[in-house]
Amino acid sequence: MRAIRLREMLHTIEREARLTASLTGRPSFDPRVMESMEEVPRDSFVLPEMIDRAFDDGPLPIGEGQTISQPYIVALMTDLLEPQPTQTILEIGTGSGYQAAILAQLVQQVYSLEIIPSLAAEAADLLLRLGYTNIEIKVGDGHTGWPEHAPYDGIIITAAASHLPQALIDQLRPGGRLVIPVGQPYSSQKLMLVEKDLAGRMDARDVLNVVFVPMTGGVRARNNNH
Ligand code: SAH
Repeated sequence: MRAIRLREMLHTIEREARLTASLTGRPSFDPRVMESMEEVPRDSFVLPEMIDRAFDDGPLPIGEGQTISQPYIVALMTDLLEPQPTQTILEIGTGSGYQAAILAQLVQQVYSLEIIPSLAAEAADLLLRLGYTNIEIKVGDGHTGWPEHAPYDGIIITAAASHLPQALIDQLRPGGRLVIPVGQPYSSQKLMLVEKDLAGRMDARDVLNVVFVPMTGGVRARNNNH
């Protein structure tokens, strides 16, 4: 049963990729990305009561009001990064750890920041149990990035930001790619691909309308402090 559901998930991702090709410019994803989607056990990353829906192509709650993203969106964002085996990637929003695991299969090292300590701890535990040794997770606010390991070959933000944080632009290597959903909380946001050329110039384009949980912290939190 599991194998059938997994296979259906992969087929759905491929079909979605074809249907959105005119927007994304990607009628299919890199076979290495699809292999990673096949290998990482999404059923290990969802809550026990969600196991039956682990291979549905939709987001699922993971506690703390957060979600594990829709598999097709995980595949698309991973493909947009064009990950290479020697690369170092920074993720903002560890959540369940699923996206970090997908990337860890494809690159040398993944650093992932999570603002909610309990989610960071659970994801770190799970990823160790699953045998990942090239993912480092830290509790922190993605607005300031993770300067110690910069520059990154790619940066992926998996929560909706009101704007592209300057620190993340600064921590992206020239030639690097950054993928981020930008827009207001709980409305439709634009998934954006940002490329920094070798001269350090930025080029950004909208890829798709998406809905992500909001990126917290940053300026918003400072404004809300009492
Ligand atoms: N990539 C995750 C999905 C994440 S949902 C997965 O594969 O499961 C978005 C996550 O971003 C949530 O866990 C949320 O707590 C986290 N987050 C929100 N704002 C953040 C910020 N400023 N810095 C770091 N993490 C943040």
